[in-house]
Amino acid sequence: MKTPLQNIDVGLLVASTVGIYERSSKWAKVQAQHLKKQPYCVACGTNVKYTNGLQVHHIIPYHICIELGRADLELDERNLITLCQTNENIITPNHHLLIGHLNDWESFNKTVKTNASKTFYAQTSAQIKLNLTWLKLCLKKPNRITDLSPLQKAELKNYINKKFPL
Ligand SMILES: [Zn+2]
Repeated sequence: MKTPLQNIDVGLLVASTVGIYERSSKWAKVQAQHLKKQPYCVACGTNVKYTNGLQVHHIIPYHICIELGRADLELDERNLITLCQTNENIITPNHHLLIGHLNDWESFNKTVKTNASKTFYAQTSAQIKLNLTWLKLCLKKPNRITDLSPLQKAELKNYINKKFPL
C-alpha cells in the first residue's frame, strides 16, 4: 500500500521553504547513474524496492548547497549516498530519515557515510532511536539554513568547500 509520503519529494518540499522550487534538469539522470553504482541502502544493504524504496540522499541538502554558492553539489557523486526510505511504523527501517536527516527532514548528518556503513549498520529504526550515539548526533544536528547566523553560514560554507573542493 502506498503511503502519502511516497508521492512527495521531501527534499524539494524543504527547498521550497527557501524559495527553490525545482531540481536541476540533470538530476533525474544523475540519480539514475548513482542508483546503478549503489543500488542498495548503505545502512542495511537492502535493494528491494519496498514502499518508498531507495532514495538518493544528498549528504549536504541541495538547497543548502545552492544557498551557499555550491549548486554543483546537487549533481556531485561525492555528495550522494543511497538510503532506504519507508513508513517507519511498519517493519522496515527508515534509514533516509533517521541516519541521513537525524529524524528531521530540515536537518542533515555530516557523518552519514560512516554512520550508515558502520555505526548503525543493519539496525532497525527502534534500535537506532535507542542508540546513545544517535541521540547525541540529534542534539547537535545542524540548524535549518534559515536559522543560521551569518557566522554559522560562513562556517558551513567553509566546511563544504573543504570537504568538496571544486
Ligand atoms: Zn536501509
